Amino acid sequence: MAFVAIRKKTVVIVLSIVLAAVVIAATAATVAVATRTDNGITIVIDAGHGGTDGGVVGVSTGTKESDVNLAISKYLEKHLEKAGYNVVMTRSDGGAVCGGMKYSKREDMKARKSKVNSAAPDLVISVHCNSYPVESVKGAQVFFSAAKGRGETFANTVQSYFNETLNERDRTAMVGDYYILNCTEYPSILCECGFLSNVGEENKLIGASYQEKIAYTIFSAVNSVFDERA
Ligand SMILES: [Zn+2]
Repeated sequence: MAFVAIRKKTVVIVLSIVLAAVVIAATAATVAVATRTDNGITIVIDAGHGGTDGGVVGVSTGTKESDVNLAISKYLEKHLEKAGYNVVMTRSDGGAVCGGMKYSKREDMKARKSKVNSAAPDLVISVHCNSYPVESVKGAQVFFSAAKGRGETFANTVQSYFNETLNERDRTAMVGDYYILNCTEYPSILCECGFLSNVGEENKLIGASYQEKIAYTIFSAVNSVFDERA
């Protein structure tokens, strides 16, 4: 009987140790997840256009640029959040950023500016698609502010990733005179992800797999710059 009692006591002790180990492992896992979901870097994703402002349209399908921009932006948000970035979207649906009031481009851009300012981000990524009267023109290109240090490194890196994975011919990141690049002091880039005026590129741009590919390319490039700085 004494032997059985000892065995029972031993089993209880062993079980307690196992339970404690499980609790410690679970706590450690929670801590690890918490760390992974917050790397302390905030990125604003600005899906261009929205609401009655559809931007440019696909030459063969009439697809609105605003919808393509939003789809790419959502894939980008997913990749960044998975990697631990804090992401703020200027818009997460098809509506205008300036909300319910009568649409005005000026009010919409001011609303984007105020969202960027309240996020105080480490980087702003504005997502657009391009259009040009010459149908053969295509390729993804990145723009940055003329103000020194405001995103040029990010722009050059994203451009080289675009050239590597999306573009048939290399393009160069350029200074662009866009409101979103200059309306705040935060590093900002504007990605023109391709030309909706080129039928071949339009067909790719309206498809989920290419949208996802663009998003992953932007994510990888941006992530590599932050990694180097860490
Ligand atoms: Zn646009």
